[in-house]
Amino acid sequence: MAIIPEQDPYIQSLHSSWYQPYVAGIDILRLDVLHPVVSGNKWYKLKYNIESAQEAGKHTLLTFGGGYSNYLIAAATAAKIFGMKSIGIVRGHYPALTPTLKACVDEGMQLVFVTQEEYNLKEDEDWLQKLSDTYGHPLIIPEGGANKEGRRGAEEIASFIPASYSHICLSAGTGTTLIGIRNALPDEQKVYGYVPMKNGSYIMDEILSYLHAGKTVQLFDDWHFGGFGKIKPELTEFMYDFYKINGIPLDRVYTAKMMYGIQAQLKQDVFPPEAKILCIHTGGLQGNDISYPKI
Ligand SMILES: *Cc1c(COP(=O)(O)O)cnc(C)c1O
Repeated sequence: MAIIPEQDPYIQSLHSSWYQPYVAGIDILRLDVLHPVVSGNKWYKLKYNIESAQEAGKHTLLTFGGGYSNYLIAAATAAKIFGMKSIGIVRGHYPALTPTLKACVDEGMQLVFVTQEEYNLKEDEDWLQKLSDTYGHPLIIPEGGANKEGRRGAEEIASFIPASYSHICLSAGTGTTLIGIRNALPDEQKVYGYVPMKNGSYIMDEILSYLHAGKTVQLFDDWHFGGFGKIKPELTEFMYDFYKINGIPLDRVYTAKMMYGIQAQLKQDVFPPEAKILCIHTGGLQGNDISYPKI
């Protein structure tokens, strides 16, 4: 499928002062440069969903997310690019729209706010049928693009990962991207997932059910900073420092928490000294309410 990417992903090295003397190297795969909004892993999770919508002659996408969902705005933007309508089922009620939800509206997405209880039915056949009937039989994509098409797209990210890296680190929300990458990489390469939700390791059950035989991943959920979408001053400070040293902007919801965790792990001997680490920049910069100065 054409249009996206605007820029091909590339690998960039972190400044050696950031990781020496703990490991042999840390590089970052810049998926964030793909597109300003449909960035990082989101394009990969959406592309086969959009393709299947087009094949089925559907003109509307319906999907699910919360107020900080990079996925929701990516879906809204991708739908617009491909000439489709989009409907977002949003968890909870917001006194004021978050920047992400505002951006969804600006991209033409119709937002439907539902209670947490209703939202919990997002995989319930009857509710999905009702939504389908109400909204003119759209293509329904699960929250986070967590379906077969999403995992298939995520597998393609592995083609940007050279075999020379011993450890691949990425943020995990639904774990869809992690599953795709893990399944597509050789067993020798370790895959570590960093979860930005409190007690986030619960996503392991779902992940395990889709991993191919013999594949393993490790999850870390210590660096949630209070929960999904939450931020603390030390995290903001870390993001600015990281940018000053490496020239790479991080997003506040996912990648900043991952890099903070990796920095802590360097001192905990989680990685052997010979480790060559590739972190995946999964994007999400659109959701930042901080901006980076030019350097
Ligand atoms: C959506 C998102 C993730 C999570 O991806 P999953 O496939 O749901 O695990 C990670 N990082 C960023 C920046 C994201 O926007």
